[in-house]
Amino acid sequence: MLRQYELVDKVLGYDPAADEAMLNRAYVFSMKAHGTQKRASGDPYYSHPIEVAGILTDLHLDDETIVTAILHDTIEDTVATHEEIEAKFGPNVARLVDGVTKLSKIEAQSETERSAENLRKFLLAMSDDIRVLLVKLADRLHNMRTLHFIKNEEKRRRIARETMDIYAPLAERIGMYEFMTEMQTLAFQQLEPDAYESITKRLEQLREDGGGDLINRIARGIKAHLEAYGIDAEVKGREKHPYSIWRKMAERHISFEALSDIMAFRCIVDSVEDCYRTLGLIHQRWPMVPGRFRDFISTPKRNGYRSVHTTVIHDERMRIEVQIRTREMHAQAEHGLAAHWAYKEGAIAATTEHPWLSDLVEILDHAQSPEELLEHTRMAMYQDRIFAFTPKGELFQLPKGATPVDFAYTVHTQLGDQTVGAKINGRMVPLRTPLDNGDQVEILVSKAQHPQPNWLSFVITGKARANIRRWIKSKERVETIALGRKIFDEIVARLPAPLGWEALAEALKRLHLPDDNALMEAIATKRVDDAQVMEALLPGSTGKGVKPPPQRTAISIKGLTPGVAFTLAECCHPIPGDRIVGLRREGDAIEVHTIGCDSLADGQDADWVDLQWGEETDGGTARIVVVITHQPGSLAALAGVLGAAGANIVGLEQTARDGSFHTFALDLEVHDVEHLMRIIAALRATDAVSSAERL
Ligand code: MN
Repeated sequence: MLRQYELVDKVLGYDPAADEAMLNRAYVFSMKAHGTQKRASGDPYYSHPIEVAGILTDLHLDDETIVTAILHDTIEDTVATHEEIEAKFGPNVARLVDGVTKLSKIEAQSETERSAENLRKFLLAMSDDIRVLLVKLADRLHNMRTLHFIKNEEKRRRIARETMDIYAPLAERIGMYEFMTEMQTLAFQQLEPDAYESITKRLEQLREDGGGDLINRIARGIKAHLEAYGIDAEVKGREKHPYSIWRKMAERHISFEALSDIMAFRCIVDSVEDCYRTLGLIHQRWPMVPGRFRDFISTPKRNGYRSVHTTVIHDERMRIEVQIRTREMHAQAEHGLAAHWAYKEGAIAATTEHPWLSDLVEILDHAQSPEELLEHTRMAMYQDRIFAFTPKGELFQLPKGATPVDFAYTVHTQLGDQTVGAKINGRMVPLRTPLDNGDQVEILVSKAQHPQPNWLSFVITGKARANIRRWIKSKERVETIALGRKIFDEIVARLPAPLGWEALAEALKRLHLPDDNALMEAIATKRVDDAQVMEALLPGSTGKGVKPPPQRTAISIKGLTPGVAFTLAECCHPIPGDRIVGLRREGDAIEVHTIGCDSLADGQDADWVDLQWGEETDGGTARIVVVITHQPGSLAALAGVLGAAGANIVGLEQTARDGSFHTFALDLEVHDVEHLMRIIAALRATDAVSSAERL
């Protein structure tokens, strides 16, 4: 146990301005207050708070924190009162001791609601003054160190479990890795004694196999390698902790033997540049293991942790993990937040860490008076954040000002979407109510509910905002599509012929739209007009450009001497727009054929005349073959389409009857080829028509 003068000297050693008298008063006060109380170890009780204070002096914490540690169990376990402590040690210490006492009381609560409730109070205390948490963590660490003195196994296991679940993660959260590691090791030993023993034994074995000094030899090798390139690094090696080995074995379902990286090395160098040079030199000398490289210097962890991590295959095919960092990063990594609380000569090095850390450094650097510092020590590393709980005790972190809707979306998107109401700490509240730290939030849901646009006026989290917006957008689309479908139905009703399934698919192709929802959207938003839709569904149906069918053909053909007789061949029925050729035989009228006509093969005896349609030419008779399904109304549908398209039927002949299909040859009076093509397209779009071809 630390003696009084040893403790005081330690504090004065790093903080010459510390209140020596106060430290002495606290030591005596605690000793007297705890009197003859004993620890499970048989030691006098007051040895515990003194040891806790000792742990905190290693972190160079300020005198108020040290005094708080010395007094931390007095209110709880002795007759000492808050008033007494305030009178003797001032309001700051009294407040801090109260904070620690509050936490300790919760510890003693029933086990069932323990973890959630604890965690909640913890975080509350933490956001009030971080020093309360530091004392509490040191308290827990010392209790873990002395855990083996407790006889009741169940109690030991409960404390170990609590340490593993709550305190070690908290230590990690504020970057105190030394605390975390020691707590985990001690808790692991208690919770999994067999595993602990087996891993410890195997580690020993490994040390012996390696000639006892393997770690140091490797470390020296790394140091020499770096030195050869002009980098002066402090290289330390260590075995991984039994618990982290155990966790890795459990996570990867592998045996100890299969676990190749159980040694870790740390290279501490002077500058960030040296960190990266060191990394390069190590990768150059030993092959890196893919997928294990992490750069926490360029992207620090949330708690401010910075280092470069890599794993390489060292000689003898052994994997080793290497962490590279600067001295400053190292101090912070070991002691986390406490490193910045530490009183040091001069200013604490400027940092580029996580914002709350720099804020803290700033405060410590610039606080002029103790009062001002006190004001700021009530700061919160979580000032911009709050914590809220589900009814089951799950903890969620939200930005300050978050509402129950933000909370619901943070828990689960679906929960957010279906929120209809909320209870905070059991009371119904409006959804726009900002949450307070520690609130328990119960979200009331309905399957029929969906996100409300007005939520956007009060939610503050990105997730809530994005989900509400997405929903509104999709809802708008649904409505737009419904409107489009209504208009579409009206358009279809105006068409001269009923539509088939094919018609819609064809129309989508013509309009370059992916599906019918896109079509409905396009219609509703007027990106396509009615006429375009009608045209696409049933080409020629708009009547646009459809003139009454010509009564007489008015044909003029270029390339013929005016007045020369010609006939349009019966075999191919040329119409304006077709490419044509004339056959001239002695004494006959010139026969005009389409250029693709089969009968041209018989025209070897004739003169071929190159012909073109005259510009004024309008009308011709085309022959098409249409196959319709044999069912009532098919012919009427056919006639309807033709009528709507402005085509005159001048000949109709049934040429085949094949089961359920009837084939017709039709002679149609049309304006020109384009007109004919539209008619054929319209026919093909009709359900009753199975095929339509120009002969
Ligand atoms: Mn204690």
